[in-house]
Amino acid sequence: MTKRDYYEILGVPRSATPDEIKKAYRQLALKFHPDRNPGDKSAEANFKEAAEAYEVLRDPNKKHLYDQYGHEGLTGAGFQGFQNFDDIFSSFSDIFGEMFGFSSGRRTSRRRPTKGSDLRYDAEITLEEAAKGTEMELEIPRTATCDGCNGTGAEAGTSAERCTSCGGKGQVYRTQGFFTISTTCGDCRGAGQVIKKPCKSCKGSGHIVQRKLLKVKIPAGVDTGATMRLTGEGEAGELGGPPGDLYVFITLTAHDTFVRQGDDLYIEVPITFVQAALGTTIKVPTLDGEADLEIRPGTQPSEIYTIKGKGIKHLRQGGQGSLHVGLKVEIPKKLSKEQEELLRKFADLSRDEVNDSCKSRKKLFGRF
Ligand SMILES: [Zn+2]
Ligand SMILES: [Zn+2]
Repeated sequence: MTKRDYYEILGVPRSATPDEIKKAYRQLALKFHPDRNPGDKSAEANFKEAAEAYEVLRDPNKKHLYDQYGHEGLTGAGFQGFQNFDDIFSSFSDIFGEMFGFSSGRRTSRRRPTKGSDLRYDAEITLEEAAKGTEMELEIPRTATCDGCNGTGAEAGTSAERCTSCGGKGQVYRTQGFFTISTTCGDCRGAGQVIKKPCKSCKGSGHIVQRKLLKVKIPAGVDTGATMRLTGEGEAGELGGPPGDLYVFITLTAHDTFVRQGDDLYIEVPITFVQAALGTTIKVPTLDGEADLEIRPGTQPSEIYTIKGKGIKHLRQGGQGSLHVGLKVEIPKKLSKEQEELLRKFADLSRDEVNDSCKSRKKLFGRF
C-alpha cells in the first residue's frame, strides 16, 4: 500500500506554518473523530492517517526527515505511526483538550518525594500565662512515616509494581460520547504503581497516625496573633520527603479585670468623690498582687494614673509595659441626714469660690 503525502492528507502547502498545520489537523480530527462516525472504517482510517501526518509535520526533526527523504526517511528512523486511538488522544491531549474544553496540561502524576503538610494548632492562653511565659503540652494527631515499610506501603522485601491499567502514567483516556476525557487511573489512584502485597502495619498507605505529645515553650510577652513555628513537627513527608512544620497560633482569652493594649494594661478603679477631693492611698490589683496608688487631692474624674513596670514584659527586648488606672469617681446615691447637712454646709462655703471661678471664666472668654 502506498502512503499518501502528509501535506496532501492535511490539505496544506509545503510552506505551511506550524499554526496552519495544527489548524488543519484539528479540522480533520473533528471531522473523522470516531465518536462522530461510529463503525465507519474509512473514517477511522482517515482519523489515524491525519494523526500520523500531524505527528510528523508538527515535529521539526521528523518534518525535516520527511521533507528530505519522504516516508522512507521516517521508517529508516524507526517511526511507526499510531497503533490505537488511545495513543492519539494521549499524544495530542492539548488538541483534544482544547477542542472539547478540557484542560490540556498532561499531568505528571508519578509519585515523588514531597514535603509533608504543615499543621496548625490553635492555642488559647490566659493573660497571666502570656505575661509570665508558660510551657504547654500539645497533643498533636499527625501522620508519620511507617517504620514497617519506610513509607513505600509495600511489605518488607517487596516493592510496588507498574500499574498495568494505565501503563504507569497515572491517567487513563476514555471516550465518552464525543468527548475524550483524561481521568486519574482508578486502579492506582494516579500513582502509576500498585502495591501487590501491602505493608501490614500501615495497610499500604505508607504512613500511620500518631498522637504526639509536644512541649512548647511560650515566651513571656506573647499576644493574640503570635505564631510559633516548630520546624519538622508537621505531617510526615511522602516517599522520604521531609516532614512539614507545625504552626502554633496564640490567642489570649479575655480577662475579667485587665484590658491589654500592646504591652500596657488598663484597669478601671472606683473611688469616692471625697477620696478624689481629699486625696488618699488606694490598693489596685496588678498581675502580681496588689499595689499602692497615691491619689492626689483634687483628682478629676477623667484622670488616669500610670504605674510604670506593671504591664506586660516586652517580647523581644528588656523592660515592661505600664498599668494605666482609670478612676471612676462615684457620687453617693443615698445620703444620711448628717451627710446631707454637711454637704449643704459645704455648698454654702463653696459659693464664693464658685462665683470666683465664674468670674475668672468670664475673664478668660472676654479675651477672645
Ligand atoms: Zn507500612
Ligand atoms: Zn494506574
